[in-house]
Amino acid sequence: ALAIFENDAADLRLRLVTHFRARPHHVNAEDVRLQQVFWNLIRNAVKFTPRGGTITIATDNNRASKERPAEIVVTVTDTGIGITPEALDRIFNAFEQGSSLINRRFGGLGLGLAISKRLVDLHGGTITAHSRGKNKGSRFILTMPTIAAPRPAGREPARAAPGTRRSLRILLVEDHDDTRRNMTRLLTALNHAVVSAADAAGALLSASRQPFDLVVSDIGLPDESGLELMRKLRSRHQLRGICLSGYGMEEDIARSREAGFSEHLTKPINFQRLEQAIENAAAHCT
Ligand code: ADP
Repeated sequence: ALAIFENDAADLRLRLVTHFRARPHHVNAEDVRLQQVFWNLIRNAVKFTPRGGTITIATDNNRASKERPAEIVVTVTDTGIGITPEALDRIFNAFEQGSSLINRRFGGLGLGLAISKRLVDLHGGTITAHSRGKNKGSRFILTMPTIAAPRPAGREPARAAPGTRRSLRILLVEDHDDTRRNMTRLLTALNHAVVSAADAAGALLSASRQPFDLVVSDIGLPDESGLELMRKLRSRHQLRGICLSGYGMEEDIARSREAGFSEHLTKPINFQRLEQAIENAAAHCT
């Protein structure tokens, strides 16, 4: 989730600081949902912190007590516009936003935190919001009960969690350096083996050297169009593809389908849509 916001944070001159201190840190959770919660908290911190601010993400542990199990505590703290005491009381309600003024300035539906809270509740955790007031920054604290580290794959096959996916060999083609780096991290974190290329020539070379299950490619490449590249990869290597495009009109989607892409994603890339697109593609890979 953090990787997704690195570019935005750099553009806004926001410092992203991490202190991952939690020792026991395994939880029983649906990873996609948990990622959605973190995504929402970090997105809000980025959205509501003016240029030059700092966002700190820290993890710690609470020891087990009579009342509570051992927990991991994740805090997302920002130095942004803060939350008034009145708004704090309602912030996890659906469609609530800090103020209509903020609403007009920042857009959004006021659903992110309500959904996050529901998801965390369903996981047996808690999420709370804290702020000393206007312009004093905000802190969101999430706790989840920890579990023992899962044993390495043994005789007992681990039950496939919902959303568990196959590891794919992915060829990533993207000319923007930061985006390529972040996407590589993201896809690797999702357990895929990623080879990246910055242009079509590099991609064709990689594909001639080793097999891939899937290509994820930008459309606007420096040497030739991602559409042309996809046609070649499809005819030469029978590859499936997901395209990343700045345009999402019907004719753009039709054009990318015609070139052989099975999925069309419009930038800025939504992490869940990308994950879903990869899962769809994986279902067709042999
Ligand atoms: P939205 O999609 O409108 O951002 P959320 O449910 O994620 O909805 O957030 C609801 C409201 O809570 C926001 O509109 C904002 O007023 C306030 N809020 C959330 N996070 C922060 C934060 N880090 N700093 C200041 N205000 C925040």
